[in-house]
Amino acid sequence: VTSAADVPPEVFRSDLRGWLDANLPTEWRAPGFWYTVSEDASLGMRREWEREKFDAGWAGIDWPPEYGGQGGTVLQRVIYEEELALAHAPASVQPQIPILYPSILLYGDEAQKRRFLRPLLRCDDMWCQGFSEPDAGSDLASLRTTAVQHEDSFVLTGQKLWTSFAHIADWCFVLARSGYDEQRSRFTLLLVDMSSPGVDVRGIRMANGRLEFAEVFFSDVRVPAANVLGGIGEGWSVINGVLKEERAAWAAQSPLFRYQLTLLGSLMQQAQRDGQRAAASPELRQAFGKVAVDVELLQLHLSEVLEATLAGHQPRDSSVTKLFSSLTHQALGYVFADVAGPTWHLDDPDPLCGDIDGGVLRELQQVFVRSLAETISGGTAQIQRNIIGERLLGLPRSVA
Ligand SMILES: Cc1cc2nc3c(=O)[nH]c(=O)nc-3n(C[C@H](O)[C@H](O)[C@H](O)COP(=O)(O)OP(=O)(O)OC[C@H]3O[C@@H](n4cnc5c(N)ncnc54)[C@H](O)[C@@H]3O)c2cc1C
Repeated sequence: VTSAADVPPEVFRSDLRGWLDANLPTEWRAPGFWYTVSEDASLGMRREWEREKFDAGWAGIDWPPEYGGQGGTVLQRVIYEEELALAHAPASVQPQIPILYPSILLYGDEAQKRRFLRPLLRCDDMWCQGFSEPDAGSDLASLRTTAVQHEDSFVLTGQKLWTSFAHIADWCFVLARSGYDEQRSRFTLLLVDMSSPGVDVRGIRMANGRLEFAEVFFSDVRVPAANVLGGIGEGWSVINGVLKEERAAWAAQSPLFRYQLTLLGSLMQQAQRDGQRAAASPELRQAFGKVAVDVELLQLHLSEVLEATLAGHQPRDSSVTKLFSSLTHQALGYVFADVAGPTWHLDDPDPLCGDIDGGVLRELQQVFVRSLAETISGGTAQIQRNIIGERLLGLPRSVA
């Protein structure tokens, strides 16, 4: 074996499994564990975990070694994602990596790649993505944050909204309006140091009680021109590539959904509904069966996408993946809510529900609440349907 890419898939899988067995703490794998520790502790522990993985050579699997990656293959990366899910490893503390890393790799200059890529992968630098604004989400082109050039820097002014992890981020990947040209707006992507004077972050608490996103205000923030990514006025073409990566990042979901389905199955064995075990209810069994079939269909779809990718084709149907994946996850969440009953969100949901495992309950409560956001973040379900209709199926454009 001369390079990481030459390691046969089965050897790669067993090496990784062995490393995870030896290094992933057993208590972390228990259902609901991450909701028993404080947010700060969870962030600290998960950040340290990313560093351990990086230092042991288990990060950036198919990215170039000169920028912190392992130089492996796409297949190895898929195996990596699968094994992390099967081992119940914690969710990444920096979910932006699959979008940001390729963006800087593809569009950054050499100095940017050297400065940013390795600390991003190791989570030494934490990043956030500042695209959405109060009046610009699906219609991103209506954003109002401006970047005005003054000699060798830009002055950034405006407000971003729903910026995940902005309150702990060292850097932000900001899309701003930078001028007009041939009657068209020009947009520029800036890599913004969050400790710059004029950056104000106000956290927003989510429905699950956690603080995971924020609104960010930029008041005359000076950003060096060296921090433009992909060229002045070229922001739009960069983010078109980037958003595709964001949708493709959903591809690792099915092993995780299978695991959550087993938790739901065990909850159905424990919980009582209408005087009988939930698992004996024909309606609940049917609903469970439908989700189980969808999870398997999702796996088949992802296998096809992988096969096409390995054959050198650029998958065109990332919107199908995003839509199907988010809807399947939501359906799983709704079955959980039906099983646990109207007080599903309480620590001790419903005395009629009987004795149920607190960890399984906590895990599924979070799955349900989070799944509700999944048809919004990264492009809403309606927008994905528009893309599928217009670009994949060639249907006429919708008229407002
Ligand atoms: C958990 C979470 C994390 C997020 N993290 C980030 C982040 O880190 N950085 C960031 O920049 N943004 C982030 N977002 C914001 C996200 O990208 C936007 O919420 C999303 O793009 C939708 O924009 P909007 O909220 O402005 O809704 P709108 O665009 O106002 O849409 C409102 C409704 O109208 C529908 N709609 C809009 N246009 C059309 C159309 N043409 N056809 C049919 N229906 C339409 C939408 O589907 C939706 O149902 C996050 C959102 C969530 C929920």
